[in-house]
Amino acid sequence: KPRHSYTNSSARESVQNDAPNQAGPSSPTSIQEQRKQLPIAQGREALVEEIRANDVTVLLGETGSGKTTQIPQYIFESGIAGTGVIAITQPRRVAATSLATRVALEQESPLGKLVGYSVRFDEKYNHDTRIKYMTDGMIVRELLADPNLSKYSVVIVDEAHERTLRTDLLLANLKKILKTRNGPVAPGAKGKNQSNPLKVVVMSATLDAEKFSAFFSGAKILYIQGRQHPVKIYHSAENQIDYVDSAMRTFFQIHIDRPLGDVLIFLPGQEDIESLQASIEHFAKRLPEGVPEVLTCAMYAAQDQRKNSQVFSAAPPNTRKCILATNIAETSITIPGVKYVIDTGKCKEKQFLARAAGGGLDTLLTRDITQSSAMQRCGRAGREGAGFCFRLYTDKSFKDMEVSAQPEIVRCSLASSILQLRCLDLHLEELDLMDAPDIDSIQSSLKTLWLLGAIDNTGKLTQAGREMAAFPLEPQYACAVVASKNYGCTSEVLDIVAVISASSKLYIDVAEQRESAAEVRRKFRHPTGDHMTTLNVVRAYREVTADKNVVSGPGTGNKEKSAKKEWCRKHFLNEQALSEANDIRKQLETVCERNNINHTLSTTSRTSQKDDDSKGYAEDEAILRSFGHGLAENSAFLQPDGSYKQTMGPSAVKIHPSSTMCEKKVPAIIYDELVYTNSIYARGVSYIPKGFFSSFAAFQQRKA
Ligand code: ADP
Ligand code: MG
Repeated sequence: KPRHSYTNSSARESVQNDAPNQAGPSSPTSIQEQRKQLPIAQGREALVEEIRANDVTVLLGETGSGKTTQIPQYIFESGIAGTGVIAITQPRRVAATSLATRVALEQESPLGKLVGYSVRFDEKYNHDTRIKYMTDGMIVRELLADPNLSKYSVVIVDEAHERTLRTDLLLANLKKILKTRNGPVAPGAKGKNQSNPLKVVVMSATLDAEKFSAFFSGAKILYIQGRQHPVKIYHSAENQIDYVDSAMRTFFQIHIDRPLGDVLIFLPGQEDIESLQASIEHFAKRLPEGVPEVLTCAMYAAQDQRKNSQVFSAAPPNTRKCILATNIAETSITIPGVKYVIDTGKCKEKQFLARAAGGGLDTLLTRDITQSSAMQRCGRAGREGAGFCFRLYTDKSFKDMEVSAQPEIVRCSLASSILQLRCLDLHLEELDLMDAPDIDSIQSSLKTLWLLGAIDNTGKLTQAGREMAAFPLEPQYACAVVASKNYGCTSEVLDIVAVISASSKLYIDVAEQRESAAEVRRKFRHPTGDHMTTLNVVRAYREVTADKNVVSGPGTGNKEKSAKKEWCRKHFLNEQALSEANDIRKQLETVCERNNINHTLSTTSRTSQKDDDSKGYAEDEAILRSFGHGLAENSAFLQPDGSYKQTMGPSAVKIHPSSTMCEKKVPAIIYDELVYTNSIYARGVSYIPKGFFSSFAAFQQRKA
């Protein structure tokens, strides 16, 4: 393959103070020694005193300086938190769980006791937990039960620069809570005579501290002196269209030409990571004699937690570690040993295409990163010594990038947040937000909520809306669960929703084996489409046991696990997705119980009991109607020319080739999501009786 040519733009080397090389991960320092060697450790006393003295502090420091792991421990160890809990929020679940694991280790306490975490569908903490890592989404959800967050004495808003929707909502709520809990004191002053005052620490890795400080009426800004070594940046001479292939060639160029040191490759998502990992491993086996070995590992949201922790262990001798990561490794997680960074210049970003497509869900689009991300990625190469960054894009492309990302609140669907706020009697428009969302976007989200029956014609929250808000699900799927009550098929709807909500995809798609995969999976196909097909898979998976003849006893659990694994492998199904869905289902059952929804009601039990609510629908129709309530906005009608047109939007949609419905024509469909490539494709597609929509309209009228 041709080698890459790069222009050397050493002019933009990031130069900062050159500090002595800190102990690398391979040096045999104890974990407590490692803590003391972090850049933040020198400033410990001063930081603690400032945090003690101020209600709100803004803390700024280079990635890897120790903010996320150390600040919560400093606060805990200095007694600032009193008897309350210290919350540290993260935009990503993997970051929350992985950092909690690390800090539990540093505190020499098992995870889930002194140090715990709470993320959607997974939590590990108990009554003794004092340091709690959580996603920003989870703490916003906790507002529903405890609007003043009274069990927390300190809330640390980490990665604030990412400006996720949940972080913005949290910041607005914290501002309100500070007034309630600490009283109207002068900015920066300590809350006086309050029984349960709150402390807020806002942490960020980029230079936007003033904005946060101004938001909290001039809160004190603290800077942590970082240790950043110079990084030499190379831009590719031309823009690379196939960035996966180009990343692979660049990797081997580094591997063959340059001294040992680990390589970190930034890619937009899981699919690219998996495909690049496979090809690097393939070629690494065929390297000439004398070239060091290659060890690959990956870091992305949906990856197995055990595998994620591999990135922290040092490479064996004479081996180069190659870490493939999404932008999670940009600022949230610092991977030691990295000397070379390969930046594809791409990321996946949530984008709300409501207006473009006339109503719909958020989509994840692969797009160019921002200059600020590019600089962060580059900085990852210079943590332990001078480093190198290879950009798979030109110098001009870098200059054309946006400077920094827009806050999520101006580009995401607000339906779920508006619903949660309504439960607190709050209106998004009335909140003191750092950036206000677009009025169109609010309108469109209100329309969605109205269609779901979550708010009535006057905009007031309905009983059904309150029930929906209780589920940690997109409102569309919460609505399907709530609607399933009336059709007597909650059990089945939970099974399907759990698979849709799992972090990884159900079907394994290997290009070379696409046909054999389709063949073995054919038996799961349901004539109505993808939702019922998913249900068939879940049911079949549940039926797999170790061996029918073995009486259950010690060891059968493991045998069953491996039987399930083998069964999934044979059917090209992702075992991780199915077992995760099983856990999600259990959590959704708990929410059902709290809301008096009978989750054991299933279409199978129903036929024997002749349940009145079932309205006499066949199993599949009952289930599809439940989804129809949630996905009404995601529906399309067949046109005379054989294409589908959105019922509530202007666009023509095609059915995604991965769908079981892709070769069928039915009068009306519902779908989980739209994928935008050269055309608009609907994914997760099922048949819905066309008449459903007229009865649905009647149902809405009745509600109003
Ligand atoms: P910051 O928040 O300022 O970016 P962190 O507190 O996340 O910094 O990181 C401090 C150090 O802890 C880094 O050197 C990082 O490599 C290390 N670290 C974080 N998590 C783990 C882990 N799970 N295993 C080993 N080291 C870790
Ligand atoms: Mg951090």
